[in-house]
Amino acid sequence: MAGRAPDASRGGEGGATASAVPVREGARYPAGMKVFIAVDMEGATGVAHREHLLPGGNDYEKARRWLTSDVNAAVEGAVAAGATEVYVNDGHGNMRNLLLDELHPAARLVVGPAQAKNKPLVQVTGIEAGGFEAAMLVGFHSRAGTPGGLLSHTWVGMLVHEIRLQGQVAGETLLDAAIVGHYGTPVVLVTGADDVCREAKADLGADLATVEVKQVLGPSACATLTPKRTFPMIKAAAEQAVRARHQRKPWTTRGPVTMDVEFHRREMAQRALDTGLGAAVGDRCVRYTGPDVPSASRDLWRGLEEALREDGSFLK
Ligand SMILES: [Zn+2]
Repeated sequence: MAGRAPDASRGGEGGATASAVPVREGARYPAGMKVFIAVDMEGATGVAHREHLLPGGNDYEKARRWLTSDVNAAVEGAVAAGATEVYVNDGHGNMRNLLLDELHPAARLVVGPAQAKNKPLVQVTGIEAGGFEAAMLVGFHSRAGTPGGLLSHTWVGMLVHEIRLQGQVAGETLLDAAIVGHYGTPVVLVTGADDVCREAKADLGADLATVEVKQVLGPSACATLTPKRTFPMIKAAAEQAVRARHQRKPWTTRGPVTMDVEFHRREMAQRALDTGLGAAVGDRCVRYTGPDVPSASRDLWRGLEEALREDGSFLK
C-alpha cells in the first residue's frame, strides 16, 4: 500500500457527539478523518433516461436535485461516522451537475470537466492528496455490455466497447476502486440501481455495502424509490460503512499494470494511438501499461480524450 499515512487523530469517531463534528473553520486540512465520494449520475435516485443526464434535457434540472440529495445523504452519513472532511467529486458528463448551494456544508466539491490537464484521475481526482480513510461511489451505473443494464457504459459510451484491467473486464466501479486503492483507500459503499450493486459486489466483494435506489426494467427504464425514501437509506448505509471502514481492504494489484481499451471502431483506436501513448493490440484495442493503476489510467484517459477530438470545421 503506497501513499497513505494514517491520520494522527480520529477524534469524534464513535463518540456521542460525532454527528455534530463540523469542518473546522479556516482549516485547509483539518486533523481528523477524510472521506472521498465519487459521484456519477446514471445511478442517482429517479434517473432513468438520457434526457435526465444532459444539460437542456427534459427533467435534467430535477435530476440534479435528486443527485444532490443522494450525495448529501452520503455526506451526512460520513459526518455522523466522524468524518471531518468530505471530498465530493462531481464525475458525470461535464462534471458540473451537483447543486453547490444545496450541498452539505461539510463537502468540498471537485468540479469541472475531466480534461486530462484538469482531472487526470477523472471521477476520483483529488484522491491523490492521500489520507482518505474511505471512499463511496454514489449514483454509479453498470459497465458497458451489461445485459439489460440501465444506462450502461464504461467511461465514454460513444467510444468504449470494453475496458480490461489486468485482463479483467472492468466497469467504472472497479476502475475507480483500483485507483483509490492505490492511494490506500477502500471503497466502502456503492449506490445505484440493482445491476451496478450486483456488479460492485462481484468485483469488490460480496460483503460490500450497497444501496439499491431503483430496480432496472430496461436500458432506459427503472422502478425507482423517491428521494424522500432513499435519503435515509443512503445516510444510514454511509454512516455504517464509514464506521466499518477498517474491515474493508483497498483494491490493489501487483505492477506493472495493464489496461486495455477495446474501442467500437478502428479509427477511434488510431486517434488514441496518435497521442504516442499506448500500443496497438489488434485492430480496435489499445493497451496502456504503467507501474501502477493511476499511471496507466491517466494515459488511457488521455487516449480517450484524443479519440473524441474532432477536426476543426475548416478541415472537414
Ligand atoms: Zn455518468
